Amino acid sequence: THPDLDLRAHIRGIPDFPKPGILFYDISTLLRHGPAWRAAMERLAARISPYKPDVLAGIESRGFLVAAPLALELGLGFVMLRKPRKLPGETIGLDYALEYGTDRIEMQADAVKPGQRVVLLDDLLATGGTMAAGIGLLRQAGAEVPAVAALIELAFLNGRARLDLPCETLLRYD
Ligand code: 5GP
Repeated sequence: THPDLDLRAHIRGIPDFPKPGILFYDISTLLRHGPAWRAAMERLAARISPYKPDVLAGIESRGFLVAAPLALELGLGFVMLRKPRKLPGETIGLDYALEYGTDRIEMQADAVKPGQRVVLLDDLLATGGTMAAGIGLLRQAGAEVPAVAALIELAFLNGRARLDLPCETLLRYD
């Protein structure tokens, strides 16, 4: 549907968010436009289906908005990678370095079966640190991660160089 729809026109850059000097790419305007959101999900579905995922995973919280509808579109299950202490039951986690300090992501210990093919999604790839952590956690759980994907890639940060697998993105900003 809507092959001519320009997704770029539905993303806005908001200066000085969350800190002075940062240009934040806001996907809210895409999400609130029905045809644009649908087109984005259909195009991303076409890009990830060749990797033959068994299940999709999304990174809290905007990654959920991408992974969950895509999972529905592809008839797959959806797994949450979350901030610490959000998930009930037994969890596994991975700590990762930020520019200042560290962060941690967690998933339920039984969320994926060893050998399952899991494609990981987020809204945006910047330095790649978040995606690399998610990949590490899924691998720790025994998953095979054939690819990751995001709506947007900030190409000037070269996040994909930190990843040792294919990364599919719909929109690239230089
Ligand atoms: P990275 O770890 O690749 O440096 O940062 C990516 C993570 O930060 C993603 O989870 C993404 O949601 C968030 N992020 C960083 N910059 C932006 C931005 O400009 N727009 C949006 N929507 N998310 C961002």
